[in-house]
Amino acid sequence: MTHPSFGLAPDDEANRKLLANVHPTDWKTPVRKGRYNLVVLGAGTAGLVAAAGAAGMGAKVALVERHLMGGDCLNVGCVPSKAIIRSGHAAHALREGKDFGVRVDGTVEVDFAAVMERMRTVRAEISPNDSAQRFADHYGVDVHFGEARFTGSNKVEVGGRELPFSKAVIATGARPVVPPVPGLSDAGFLTNETVFNLTELPRRLAVIGGGPIGCELAQTFVRLGSEVTVVELMDRFLPREDRDAAELLQRAMESDGVRVMLSTKLESVAAADGMKELVLIGPEAEHRLVVDEIFVGVGRTPNIEDLDLERAGVTADRTGVVVDDHLRTTNPRIYASGDVCLPAKFTQVADFASRTVLQNALFPGPKKKFSTINLAWATYTDPEIAHVGLSEDEAREQGRDVETITIPMKDIDRALAEGDTEGFLKIHVHPKKGTIHGATFVCRRAGDLISEITTAMHAGLGIGEMASVIHPYPTVAEAVRKAADQFNRRKLTPLTTSLLKHWFAWTRK
Ligand SMILES: Cc1cc2nc3c(=O)[nH]c(=O)nc-3n(C[C@H](O)[C@H](O)[C@H](O)COP(=O)(O)OP(=O)(O)OC[C@H]3O[C@@H](n4cnc5c(N)ncnc54)[C@H](O)[C@@H]3O)c2cc1C
Repeated sequence: MTHPSFGLAPDDEANRKLLANVHPTDWKTPVRKGRYNLVVLGAGTAGLVAAAGAAGMGAKVALVERHLMGGDCLNVGCVPSKAIIRSGHAAHALREGKDFGVRVDGTVEVDFAAVMERMRTVRAEISPNDSAQRFADHYGVDVHFGEARFTGSNKVEVGGRELPFSKAVIATGARPVVPPVPGLSDAGFLTNETVFNLTELPRRLAVIGGGPIGCELAQTFVRLGSEVTVVELMDRFLPREDRDAAELLQRAMESDGVRVMLSTKLESVAAADGMKELVLIGPEAEHRLVVDEIFVGVGRTPNIEDLDLERAGVTADRTGVVVDDHLRTTNPRIYASGDVCLPAKFTQVADFASRTVLQNALFPGPKKKFSTINLAWATYTDPEIAHVGLSEDEAREQGRDVETITIPMKDIDRALAEGDTEGFLKIHVHPKKGTIHGATFVCRRAGDLISEITTAMHAGLGIGEMASVIHPYPTVAEAVRKAADQFNRRKLTPLTTSLLKHWFAWTRK
């Protein structure tokens, strides 16, 4: 049964404001006879973008949400995590002040309750954007709260009401995977759905999983004062990212004080006296770790079980709803978008997937292919890791000619001035034409910096052309221009070098 606070705690002004926007208890369910152009199942990023886009063009749209509008991103994902990461940065900046000639007398103390209160305030402030009222009043969307399920190939049912549709979008997202570890459920654990409810800092925290969510959280909690151990089954963090980037992040987290246990399996958990004892099988030995809290971030599983997909003729597998490159399911009336169907589980990917769905579902003519989008994403650790397009290996697997240009941050004046010399820009290009296949930026604000390369890829600009783009000095973005200069210099053949030498010799006469 759903808790009246919809899983949000504590019951304070910020959370009440959030709930009034994302699940108002006095919501009047709209009554409408007739068919909708579009019924959207789930009001996370994917669902909101689909509903707003379709209604904005004049379609009759129903949006169904069983929990909180805004989905994971607003309530238990991007927004709260980035808010507490900011507090972690503040604590870290004070501690490293001495490296910059700034002395802080006494110890740096973190008021964890205040950190979380600030996070709740930020989240509540953002929530009007995703509110039921805004979607009803501003976009004219019929917002229904309740569990949506298919009752046929062109009908959805919610709370006993039937919503017939011409087209539908499944945007029901994903939830945390809970590994079947003996004792884990009995001992109790946190996931992204509960960690943002904390008001007291866990003194000792075990983070299970070294993916983006686990890394962001581990680094933040160690900076806020917890003793943090990350347990990861693989021999590295962030398997989707460049290995050098992941190793650099690992070193950064270790220097923050995070204990990293790679190639290590969580075997079992036992609870005693309010503590949790973890049995861990490492590459060489078994370890016992006693902590106050466990955070599980080992992956995401799609929300598909309650949808009665078979009644609509929609096929799904373990990874989610099966879609083609137009994001159409096995029922031609029904599309899917976001975490429920895509391996890249990011807000901006859900957003762009829904734009693709709108074009393909609502209009005749040529269909848009999702695979043509240059996917970009970031992990908001310190340093940040941002990626766009293909990795070097992926480019080779696709049979492309590829060469990687690397610009270390220690070659960037601004990075030196800031004391941020550990990162790099790696940009994968066609060795002759300079076509950009993809890139990874590792540095502070890499998530912002990557957009220059994404823009270049979108506009079809080769790396060589980026040399004529003026960049303010000193900035970290100069790394892009340096990569371009490096590429252009290599285009100088022995013949052109020799001709130039002759030219300059002649003009000296
Ligand atoms: C801790 C954390 C941090 C993250 N940080 C970032 C970040 O910084 N940047 C980034 O790009 N991404 C981030 N993400 C990922 C991002 O949150 C997701 O990719 C994004 O929310 C996906 O949107 P979605 O609409 O597909 O799914 P969701 O946001 O999960 O929304 C799906 C909605 O469908 C509803 N629903 C499910 N079943 C039904 C049903 N039967 N009937 C009605 N409604 C239903 C759910 O209640 C939910 O509201 C983060 C995720 C986590 C967990």
